[in-house]
Amino acid sequence: MARIFSGVKPTGHLTLGNYLGAVRRWVEVDQHRGEALFSVVDLHALTVEHDPARVRRLSRQAATLLLAAGLDPALCTLFVQSHVDEHARLSYLLECTATDGELRRMIQYKEKSVQAREAGQSVRLSLLTYPVLMAADILAYGADEVPVGEDQTQHVELTRDLAVRFNQRYGHTFTVPRATAPAVAARVMDLQDPTSKMGKSHENGAGIVYLLDDADTVRRKVMRAVTDSGREVVYDRGERPGVANLLDLLAAATGGDPEELAGGFGSYGALKKETADAVVELLRPVRERHAALAADPGYVDGVLREGAGRARGMARPLVDRAYRAIGL
Ligand code: ADP
Repeated sequence: MARIFSGVKPTGHLTLGNYLGAVRRWVEVDQHRGEALFSVVDLHALTVEHDPARVRRLSRQAATLLLAAGLDPALCTLFVQSHVDEHARLSYLLECTATDGELRRMIQYKEKSVQAREAGQSVRLSLLTYPVLMAADILAYGADEVPVGEDQTQHVELTRDLAVRFNQRYGHTFTVPRATAPAVAARVMDLQDPTSKMGKSHENGAGIVYLLDDADTVRRKVMRAVTDSGREVVYDRGERPGVANLLDLLAAATGGDPEELAGGFGSYGALKKETADAVVELLRPVRERHAALAADPGYVDGVLREGAGRARGMARPLVDRAYRAIGL
């Protein structure tokens, strides 16, 4: 049975990008077909300016939303990363395996370090090293598969490189994992800036649909999505990223094909209206289940406690083996 690991950062409220790029597949496919672990990766929220109370609140909220989206603790293991020491323990060994050059090449490091400097902030060292921590998240469980959106493929490649290098130097220790991305909506774009991804830590909330947005808010955001000056609805991600993004969203929400759907619309307005309706329907059950779960924080805490126990039991022997292999 495949071992599957993936995570989500508590750096903001979960977005439609997180849901379509990752979480929906965890719920519908991954937890049914493998031994699946899903983590709220709170250590990763500390790489940029953060507010301690907010990170804690968002961690609980992310876990609640993952349950609301349909993760079932009877089928998978859901836990908070910092509750399991093995992630940080293994990360150090992998830092001794990675090089400064390969981390500086990471696209997300380049982008986020520029953003931090522009905001007058210093760049935390952890912003450079967090892909190594992510590799530890994955390798600690011997995961075969990592279901993520397209933005994470470079990090999973690094994880593979580190696993192979460690195995070659110190003897076979780690499974070499592979990324799996969804066929449609692997990269949901910001509705106000369709050339950049819809990211929960971005400032521009107007272009981001959050999982807990109510129907009116979703409709308003989708209806105001930036498109272009054309009229004809065609699917072209390069030339017409705004329209293509809407078609991707509609296709992901309804199970259609974005290119085929394009032919059915006479105007951008009609496409927006149908996309808005489809997204509202897609998110409705998540919002409803979230309301019930939020009223019972004790249940969520219990799930996370049990999940951390299970996760620890899986990671500990493997990380101990890595410590022995490297000479400690
Ligand atoms: P964010 O970038 O929103 O902070 P995370 O880094 O926590 O999100 O990623 C959680 C998961 O959601 C990852 O698998 C990531 O690939 C996926 N994801 C994030 N944003 C998008 C997006 N705009 N489109 C598709 N998938 C996304």
